[in-house]
Formats: sequence, C-alpha cells, structure tokens
Amino acid sequence: MAKQFDLYSMTEQELCDLSRHLGEKPFRGKQLFSWLYSGAESFHDMTNISKEFRKVLEENCSMALPEIARKQVSVDGTVKYAFRLSDGEVIESVVMSYHHGNTICLSTQAGCNMGCRFCASAIGGKSRDLTAGEIMGQLLAAERDLSKRIGNVVFMGMGEPLDNLEQVLKFMDIASHDKGLNIGYRHFTLSTCGLCDKIVLLAEKKLPINLAVSVHSPFDDERSEMMPVNKKYPLLKLVSALRVYQAATGRRITLEYALNKGKNDSLDHAKELMRLFGGLMYHVNVIPINNAREGYHKSGKDAVKRFVDYLTGQGVSATVRRELGADISAACGQLKHEIKEM
Ligand code: SAH
Repeated sequence: MAKQFDLYSMTEQELCDLSRHLGEKPFRGKQLFSWLYSGAESFHDMTNISKEFRKVLEENCSMALPEIARKQVSVDGTVKYAFRLSDGEVIESVVMSYHHGNTICLSTQAGCNMGCRFCASAIGGKSRDLTAGEIMGQLLAAERDLSKRIGNVVFMGMGEPLDNLEQVLKFMDIASHDKGLNIGYRHFTLSTCGLCDKIVLLAEKKLPINLAVSVHSPFDDERSEMMPVNKKYPLLKLVSALRVYQAATGRRITLEYALNKGKNDSLDHAKELMRLFGGLMYHVNVIPINNAREGYHKSGKDAVKRFVDYLTGQGVSATVRRELGADISAACGQLKHEIKEM
C-alpha cells in the first residue's frame, strides 16, 4: 500500500507539523528536512533521530525516488532519463553539462494538454500533474545516479508548468531553501506556452526566476495553427500579461522561437516579432526546430543566421540555443510520454 506522506512534497514547516502529528517534537521536522536534502537514502541514515521515531516514519512516510526505467547518454554528454513513478507513469528528464555547471530539464506533468503541433510531449494529452515531490524526485535521482551537483533547473521537459503552478511553486520553495538544495531562484527558468492568467498570478509572487515564453510566430493565425493555446490567449493578450509580469518583477523575458523551414523564419517574421514585443525587455532564444512531429523541419543554417543577425543588427539580444542530445531524442520537443508498461 502507498505510504500516507510523501516527504519530498513537504516544506520544512509541513514536516514540523507532521512530526507533531506523529507524536514527536516539531523540531524533528527540521532535522528530517535537512536529512532529505543532504544525501540520506533511507530513514536508517538519519542518526540524530531516535530509532523509535525512524520506525514510525518508515511506516507512514515515503522517501522513495522515481525508478530509472531507462538511461541514455548522448555523444555530447547529455543524459536522458525515463523515470517510472509510483503509479507506473513514465516521464522523461534531461541533464545537460555546461562549463558553468549542470542543468536539469524537468517534467512537470505526465503528458501535456496544450496540444502544440510540433511537440512530441503533446501526443496523447495529459494523464496527470506531477506532485512537488515527483518534480524533486527527478532531480535527486539524477544527482544520485551521476554523483554530480545540479545547480540549474529549467522547467522545459514534458508538460506545461503554469498548468501545474502550485506544485511547481512548492518545488521551488523547497529546492531554494538553504537546508533544501539551496538553489537560488535565479537558477530556475520556467518556460510557458503562454497561459496569460497564470503569468499574471506568477507576477504577483515577484520571484526572481527567469521566465521564458514560447512564441514561435508573431502572427495570430500562424501561431494558432502551431499552438492551439493561442486561440484562448492570442498575442496581444500575451504581450499585456508580459507587461504586467515585467512591471512586477523587473526581469527580462526570454522569447523562445523555433524556426520551421520556410514557414516562420522570414525577416517579416523577425520584424513583426520586434514590433509586437517592442515595449518589453527581452532576449530571443532561437531554436532550429527539432524533428518531433510530421510537417516541421529545421530551418537551414543560413536561414537561422539571417534571422538572428537581423535581430541583433536591430539591437535585439538574440542567440541560438545549443542543440544538445538530439541523437537520443533528448532535445526540445522530443520528450515523450510513454505508456505505463515499459
Ligand atoms: N510547455 C512549456 C515548456 C515545455 S517545452 C512551453 O511550451 O514552453 C520547452 C520548449 O521547447 C518550448 O519553447 C517549446 O515550444 C519548445 N519545443 C517544443 N517542441 C519543439 C521542437 N520540436 N523543436 C524545438 N523546440 C520545441
């Protein structure tokens, strides 16, 4: 039977409340919190907690990490994991190494309901949201497996993080805690397809995280075709939500723009993009679209260069995202929600 309390989903305060609930002094919760994020692999390791209380914890609480169902290593060193969750759902996460440290790309949902036509994660829709503990579990399982510290998190795996905002916020709260993983908010990047109401909600939290928005076209008809979410939240609404966000946080926004050969890679697109987002501080992250779904093809090197050079020539900050892990289908848009039995 599943244990009643999932410890990796709990804040330090919640663990103090839990300790009291289980008949111990609340401060035991603080000790428990520290152990969870300093490498304890079982209750047995928690030597400053009495044997009796460890037994109570063992009976009522889970500190299990997701099981590694598959691990693939790219020629460029990128690692992709398929993790099996306690109910059999399988999700994927990717660890990338840069000179400034290791970054993990986390999934926030099993599947995704946003329906972007170029993204493999959308196939089959969403089974469910992940809990904060399951989001954390991906990071801890990867750190343990690789014996490496991961200092940066991007919510760019499977799922739409703003469609599971509460659990994503809780995960960041725990991960940023100095007795948790001590990952500062500036090391989190949340990518959204543009759920405007949630962008405004996030703005109210005033967190110094990085917000990235998937734009992919500055024209409503074309964007709606690529991203059905645009029908509900068209570009002008998106721009207004981002204005609210920027006024509240003062943070520069990243615009993600995947180039699809001969479709959205013209200079007219670049010009309209600049016009539309004109009043904002932003950086454009250009992604030669990855092979994930039929009908979408990477723009050629020349077209990518022309697009980026145009923007930078106009004084807009723009770079091309490094393409990592394509040989193991670990690149943007290639993470798949696999069905339970693997
Ligand atoms: N749901 C969020 C985060 C997940 S995807 C979002 O939509 O932003 C992370 C990034 O990869 C997004 O910018 C997404 O649009 C992009 N992406 C999806 N499929 C892609 C593909 N085939 N090629 C390149 N980028 C892709």
